[in-house]
Amino acid sequence: MTTTFPGDPPSILSNACVAAALVEGAAVVARAGGLAACDIVLRDGRVAAIVAPGDGTKVLSGATRADLAGSLVLPRFVDGHTHLDKGHILHRAPNPDGTFLGARTTVAADRELHWTSRDVRTRMEFALRCAYVHGTAAIRTHIDSLGKQTAISWPVFDEIRTDWKGRIELQGAALCPTEFAVDDPEQFKSIVATAARYGGSIGGLTFTGNRPGEKLDRALDIACAAARANGLGLDFHVDESSSPDALTLEQIARAVIRNRFEGRVIVGHCCSLALMPVDDRRRIIALLVEANIAVVSLPQVNMYLQDREPGRTPRWRGVAPVHELAAAGVPVVIASDNTRDPFHAYGDLDFLEVFREATRILHLDHAARDWSGLMGPATSVAMGFETPGKIRVGGPADFVIVGARNLWELCTRPWSDRIVCVGGKRIDRKLPAFSELDGL
Ligand SMILES: [Zn+2]
Repeated sequence: MTTTFPGDPPSILSNACVAAALVEGAAVVARAGGLAACDIVLRDGRVAAIVAPGDGTKVLSGATRADLAGSLVLPRFVDGHTHLDKGHILHRAPNPDGTFLGARTTVAADRELHWTSRDVRTRMEFALRCAYVHGTAAIRTHIDSLGKQTAISWPVFDEIRTDWKGRIELQGAALCPTEFAVDDPEQFKSIVATAARYGGSIGGLTFTGNRPGEKLDRALDIACAAARANGLGLDFHVDESSSPDALTLEQIARAVIRNRFEGRVIVGHCCSLALMPVDDRRRIIALLVEANIAVVSLPQVNMYLQDREPGRTPRWRGVAPVHELAAAGVPVVIASDNTRDPFHAYGDLDFLEVFREATRILHLDHAARDWSGLMGPATSVAMGFETPGKIRVGGPADFVIVGARNLWELCTRPWSDRIVCVGGKRIDRKLPAFSELDGL
C-alpha cells in the first residue's frame, strides 16, 4: 500500500491494478487471472479515463499523481441479500443452540418485543455506517413483513433510503412465508401493496419445514400474478436446509415458467440442491436456466447454520452448488445475509470479507471461471441496481483501494487499511463502536 496516499485522491492513480471484469468503458489488457495494469485519470470526482500504465500524464498533463505500485483498485461493492432489520440484535437475542430453528424462534420473539421504528432505524443505520466504511455502494435488504411489523419497518426503510441516497443505494424485499398468499390472502395483499408503494420485491420464504405440496404451487401462482400486476421483482428464500423435503426450488422454477413471468426472479440459499442426486440437480438447474432465475449464495451464513448438531462436527459446508449452476448458465451471485443476529453471530457487512470467505468456502480459486464479477457487476445485473459495480469511464470516482496486487493477496488479509473513495473523495473509515447499541 502506498503509505503516502493523500487525503483526497490525486488526479492520476498511476500503476494501479484492476480486474478487467470490473472495468467498463476502457480497453484494458488483462494478464493471467483477469488483472490489468493501468493509470486511472480523475477529473471533477469522476473517472475521466483509464489508460495504459504511464499514459495518465498524456491525458492530463501537470496533474498530481499517486503511484499505487500495483495496488488493486476495486469498484465499490454491491451486496444483494442482507437483513438490515434483523442485524445487531445478538446482544439481547442470542441463538440458544446455533441452529436454524433456534434462529427463527429467537428472532420472532425479539421482533414481537422490540422492533419499534426507533429500534429498527438505529440498527439499520448502524449496519449501513459499517457497510459504507467497508466500501459498499449498494445493498438489497429483506424486510420481515408479518403482522404489525410491515407497517413499522417499511416506512423506516424508505426514510433511510432517502437519507443514504448518494452514499449507498438501497433496495427492499418483503419477507414472509410465501404460503401467506393462500393462508392469509388479506395480509398478503397488504404486503404486496406495501412493497409496491416502496418499490420493493415480493416473494418470501418457500420452505418452512414441511414437504411442499400443491398449496405452495397456488401461492407461487398468486405471487407471480401480484408481481406482474404491480411491476415488481420476485425474491425468495429457498430450501435453506439439508432436509430431503426441501424441494421448493423446482416448484418456483415451474411456477415462473407456467405463469410466463418475465420480471426479475432471485432465489437465495438453495442449500439442499447441493445434496440432491445428480439427475435431480441437473433437471432443476435446467429449469432455472429456462425460467431465467438468478441464484444468491450466502456462504458464511449457510456454513454457520447448516449441518449444526450439538457435539458433532459438521460434515458439509451448507452452500448452493454454484459451480454447477454457473456452468449451466444460471446467473450466480454472493452476498452477506445476516449480521450479528441469531441467524449469524458474526459479519459486519464487509463485502471484502464476504468475497474472501466465499473464495475459500466455495472454492472460487483454482477455477477456470473468472469470479471477480461477484464483487459487483453480477449482482447489479441480476438485481437491477443503478450502481454498476464496476469502475466506469465517465462514472463517479468510487473505489476501494487495497495494498493487494492480485486476488491471492486480496484474499489473504482483511485489508483493514483499505482506502475508500466516494465521488473522488477519500471517506473517513472509522467504524461505529458496538457499544452505541448497548441502550437498545
Ligand atoms: Zn436471508
